[in-house]
Amino acid sequence: MSSVEPFVFAGLRARVIFGHGTISQTAAEIEKLGRKRALVLCTPNQAKAGERLAAELGALSAGVFAEAAMHTPVEVTERALRVFEASGADCVVSRGGGSTIGLGKAIATRTGADQVAIPTTYAGSEMTDVLGETFGGEKTTRRDASILPETVIYDVDLTRRLPVALTVASGLNAMAHAAEALYARDRNPVISLLASEALRALCEALPALVSNPDDREARAAALYGAWLCGASLGGASMALHHKLCHTLGGSFGTPHAHTHAILLPHTIGFNAAAVPELLAPVSRVLNGAPGGALFDFASSLGAPTRLKELDLSEADLDRAAGIAVTKPYWNPRPFDRDAIRALLQDAWEGRRPQQ
Ligand code: NAD
Repeated sequence: MSSVEPFVFAGLRARVIFGHGTISQTAAEIEKLGRKRALVLCTPNQAKAGERLAAELGALSAGVFAEAAMHTPVEVTERALRVFEASGADCVVSRGGGSTIGLGKAIATRTGADQVAIPTTYAGSEMTDVLGETFGGEKTTRRDASILPETVIYDVDLTRRLPVALTVASGLNAMAHAAEALYARDRNPVISLLASEALRALCEALPALVSNPDDREARAAALYGAWLCGASLGGASMALHHKLCHTLGGSFGTPHAHTHAILLPHTIGFNAAAVPELLAPVSRVLNGAPGGALFDFASSLGAPTRLKELDLSEADLDRAAGIAVTKPYWNPRPFDRDAIRALLQDAWEGRRPQQ
């Protein structure tokens, strides 16, 4: 009999609507929250979709702020706050990927506004009470109940045109949440179940989407997996993998999903040496040692495999290793600066991990 260790499970708190065409329920969800005026948030290249949504909301719309940017720069949040206040909004609707949802969180935690999140990538931010913000070239992360969106509308149809390269990178980004939740210091059996199911769903869906990006069933499976990955991230603490991604994204401006995709086999391979039993769900779905199998899986999907491809130099790796060991996150395998520098070198060159 396997032993059950003591744990704390805080529950899943957001209201989740999942399906095809569910964006049409946005107005009803705003009203259900008792709110009257929503500022629609999006990135510049999703501005038209943001305008369309605002038009559909009619009197419930307080306008559109279309300047969401990756890694939630505080200067963008400050501009958005001025628009939020001037528009008389009492809630936000964040329609987009993690960048847009991050902006919604940044507004909500400063104003008390409710959030309706409508994710269009697999980043998973919508299910977490985590906000990463960038200021002065450094990304800091915090957790707080005021950050978690109240309502999440998953509309599979919005993901059907997500470009294949972003589909793959974002899917691997999601899988990173599930993989790290498996060995989190505060892991619990419910989150581990969600994480295992999430990995299964994405391991099936991503190859199907590479073959046919408009595969309706595979899009639904990928978004379902992404939801569970987000819930895993929201229900457990992050470790070395997320710390390294935050370091590279926050201090070197590397694209979020691609950074996750490249580092994942290396960080998981590094930790597999310490906790192979906790990473068994990864081995099971990918049929191999966690790091090596993740590397093969990512390669088979055509994902980027070398940090070199993100315009990082070896001097950047020296600096990144230094930043990553300052205020480190808890990790199941202890590490020092040399170990991280070696891991980054392997990821820079795209060497296949053994573990
Ligand atoms: P993103 O939101 O920046 O989106 C990437 C690009 O893809 C953008 O230009 C966007 O407009 C476009 N895009 C989004 N959905 C699309 C679609 N369906 N079709 C076509 N184009 C689309 O990228 P991301 O990877 O989703 O999010 C990254 C950000 O999210 C980072 O800032 C990261 O820190 C944050 N994040 C936070 C958490 C958390 O829990 N706090 C979790 C995951 C990610």
